[in-house]
Amino acid sequence: MSYVDEVIDLVVSKNPAEPEFHQAVKEVLESLRPVVEANEEKFRKEALLERLTNPERQFKFRVPWVDDKGQVQVNTGYRVQFNSAIGPYKGGLRLHPSVNLGIIKFLGFEQIFKNSLTGLPIGGGKGGSDFDPKGKSDREVMAFCQSFMTELCKYIGADTDVPAGDIGTGAREIGYMFGQYKRIRGVYEGVLTGKGLSYGGSLARTEATGYGLLYLTEEMLKCNGHDMKDKIVAVSGSGNVAIYATQKAHQLGAKVVTVSDSTGWVYDPEGIDVDLLKEVKEVNRARLTEYAAKRPSAQYHEGRGVWTVKCDIALPCATQNELDLEDAKQLVANGCFAVAEGANMPTTLEATQYLQENKVLFAPGKAANAGGVATSALEMSQNSERLSWTFEEVDGKLHDIMVNIFHNLDDAAKRYGVEGDYVVGANIAGFEKVVDAMLAQGVC
Ligand code: NDP
Repeated sequence: MSYVDEVIDLVVSKNPAEPEFHQAVKEVLESLRPVVEANEEKFRKEALLERLTNPERQFKFRVPWVDDKGQVQVNTGYRVQFNSAIGPYKGGLRLHPSVNLGIIKFLGFEQIFKNSLTGLPIGGGKGGSDFDPKGKSDREVMAFCQSFMTELCKYIGADTDVPAGDIGTGAREIGYMFGQYKRIRGVYEGVLTGKGLSYGGSLARTEATGYGLLYLTEEMLKCNGHDMKDKIVAVSGSGNVAIYATQKAHQLGAKVVTVSDSTGWVYDPEGIDVDLLKEVKEVNRARLTEYAAKRPSAQYHEGRGVWTVKCDIALPCATQNELDLEDAKQLVANGCFAVAEGANMPTTLEATQYLQENKVLFAPGKAANAGGVATSALEMSQNSERLSWTFEEVDGKLHDIMVNIFHNLDDAAKRYGVEGDYVVGANIAGFEKVVDAMLAQGVC
C-alpha cells in the first residue's frame, strides 16, 4: 500500500466520527501524491504525514454562562493548535451549533496550508464552540465570550497563538473576548485579530476575505483569457465574506445576482444592493426576507437554490459542503466557467472533480479565501510596530499577496505536470514550505 493510502487509513481509523476531517485530509493527501511519491522513503522514515495530520495540541473545555432568564447554559469550547512549523498558530474561532472537534480539526488542517500560501510566518490553528450567537441578546453574547476566554486565555498569546473571527464571530464577539483576555492576563497585546479600529484593529480587515477572493479570481480569469467585466456572478451566504465579495465584484464591473442564508436565498436580477444587504445583515442582524421586502427587484425563495441560477462565475461563501455534485452539474449546464471558494471547503470532492473535468476554472478556498488570514497577519505586524497603516496600504498589500498566491499555485501545478489544476497546485505550494520547516526543525 502506498504511504499516502496508509496514512489516510490511519487518520480515518484513529479519528472516528470526524467525516469533515477525513474529507480534508483525503483531499490534501491525494493531491500531494506526486510530491510524496518522489520522496517516499525519506518522508516515511520521518513519519512526516503522520506528524502533519496529528495536531500538535488540542483543547476541549466547558463554557458555562448565564442567560437572560437566570438559567445556567453550558457549551463546549475548542482550540486546536495544529502546526507551528512556520510561525505562531493562527486561525479563526467558529461559533455555530454544528461545531464539534472534527469540524475544528478539518478547519485547522486546511489552515496550515492556507497560512503557508500567504507567504507570511503563521502556523495553522482553529477553534470555536457550539454556542449559537443568533437570537441571543448582547449581554448573553458577552457572558458567553467572557466565559469562553476565561479558559482560552491560558493557551493563547501574541507570540504563541492568535485567534480571529469566523462564522458567528464578528467584531462584537472579538471585542468581548479581547476585553476579557486583557482583564485576566493583564497585558495589552495583539492576541486576537479582527479587532475594532479603536483598539488595534487593521483597516481593510473586515473587507479582506471577500476582496481577496475577488483579487485572486480576477488574476485567475486574466491568466485564462477572461475578465470580470459584465460577468454574472452567483454568491452564496450573506455574512462577512459574501458581503465584501459582492461589493468588490461590483467594483470590478461584474453583477452579483444572488445571496443566501441558512433559511433561504435571494435572486435579484438588477444586482444585489450591497448597502441594503449590509443594513439587513450587519446592522439589523435580520433574515434575507427583510432584504426582499425592501427591494422590489428581489425574489425570495425558501431553502437552497443559489446554484440553479444562470451565471458565469460562482462564489460559494457560506459554509462547508454547500455545493454538491447536482449543483455542479447545474452550474456547468448553465454555462458557469469559474468557481472560486470564499468559504472553507464549500464544494464536495465529487463536485470539485466534476467541475474540473468539465474545464471549469476552480480556485480552492485555502488559496482563494486566504486574504482574511493574510490581513490578520498584517494586523499582527501593525500591533507589533504599534502603528496603523492606511486602508490603501493594507488593501494594496492584500492585492499583491493574492496575486502572488495565484502565481505560486499556478507554478506548482505546472512544475508537477498538471497545469490548470489549482487544487493540486495550492496543496503542493502550501505543503512545500511547511515540510521544509518541519524537516529543518528535527523530530518535534
Ligand atoms: P458569517 O457568520 O459572517 O456568515 C456566514 C454565512 O453563511 C451566513 O449568511 C450564514 O447564514 C451562512 N451559513 C452558515 N452556516 C450555514 C449552513 N449550515 N447552511 C447555509 N448557510 C449557512 O461567516 P463568514 O462570512 O465569516 O464565513 C463564511 C465562510 O468563509 C466560512 O466557511 C468561513 O470559515 C470562511 N472564511 C471566513 C473568513 C473571514 O475572514 N471571515 C476567512 C476565511 C474563510 P445564517 O446567517 O442564516 O447563519
